[in-house]
Amino acid sequence: MKKPNGGKWPGALVLIAALLVPGCAGTGDRPGRGPLRAAAEASAGAGQAEPPETGGAQGPAARAGLIWPGPEQPGRTGRFVLIPEEPRLGEPLTLAVIPGPVTERLRAAELLDAQRRRLCRAAFFPLPVEAAGDAPLLAAILTVPSTARPGPAFIRLEGIPGPLNEISLSIGGRDFVSEIIELDQTLTDIRTAPDPRKIAESQHLWAILSRTGGEIYGTGVFTPPVASTRRTSFFGDRRIFKYANGKQDSSIHAGVDYGIPTGTPVSACGPGKVVLARNRIVTGNSVVLEHLPGVYSIYYHLDSITVSEGDMAAAGTLLGKSGATGLATGPHLHWEIRVSGENTDPDACLTRPLLDKTAIFAKLNELAENQPGFGTSSNKGSSENFSFQKQ
Ligand SMILES: [Zn+2]
Repeated sequence: MKKPNGGKWPGALVLIAALLVPGCAGTGDRPGRGPLRAAAEASAGAGQAEPPETGGAQGPAARAGLIWPGPEQPGRTGRFVLIPEEPRLGEPLTLAVIPGPVTERLRAAELLDAQRRRLCRAAFFPLPVEAAGDAPLLAAILTVPSTARPGPAFIRLEGIPGPLNEISLSIGGRDFVSEIIELDQTLTDIRTAPDPRKIAESQHLWAILSRTGGEIYGTGVFTPPVASTRRTSFFGDRRIFKYANGKQDSSIHAGVDYGIPTGTPVSACGPGKVVLARNRIVTGNSVVLEHLPGVYSIYYHLDSITVSEGDMAAAGTLLGKSGATGLATGPHLHWEIRVSGENTDPDACLTRPLLDKTAIFAKLNELAENQPGFGTSSNKGSSENFSFQKQ
């Protein structure tokens, strides 16, 4: 993995500590991501007035506003809800859009930094609503990479014409821990020895994690995969690996490590489908669940696996027992969340749902009340109308 910004970790809290507790290594399962370049579609439209936006105090910090394709297309305004209003590094953000003429070609949302470099891209998927005759909402779930720079950012809506196809937002900063991990010869070999099987396993996993399916298996908040709260590594830790031959490398920890004895039950953090359950060289016995379009949870280094690929899991379903298989310096569970391919802070998914229907519909209803003429026909934002289909 490459260090961003010439080796300086943005926002890194310099807390160097040799790793004396069980840990593991990120595996770089994301081939093919070259330099991320802005789509250079910087709008030439002069005098871009910000579309009106509504604040609001209901639910978690959320924002609603208008998607305005320009003065040449009056009446083709669209509406969006963005949760949370100011995501921090590593945190997910959900964008919901009310379909209408202006959104008919909407395909994906891109999170761009202040220099218009792409940070994350997420495909839209339909979010069913309950009332008869209502078109589904569209939603996309993005994540702010932990390596992004705090400050101004933009969400560009692919497929929407006109100068104002961007939603501005602000990324909040945070600190990350730095640590040094010394690897013996065996672990050095697992991490560094070239092996075509490692490449094939990495490509297979990336094909799974980069896919945005259409299934919504559940919309609730996630629960921790183990009862223990003893953590030995955290999301976003900046790591230096010291190899047996004296060389070193760096990476960023993609998830959370729980230091737990071998044989500890590991359960699903939410309802989903088992899309991977097999042994891998670097991550040992591994399980991956799909929860939402583009949203996956990952469990590594298991001693044993008790589910099979294709199984459905409920929240709390036993997936296996923890262990130290693969590249592990001791028994632990590595738990990781991916959103649209991007590493996401698991703790952010323990405190709020990734599809927060209460917050989304509260904001839509607020828009409806504040803006006469909102919606076209049945998509009026009454609390009776706007509700999810039962999953
Ligand atoms: Zn780990």
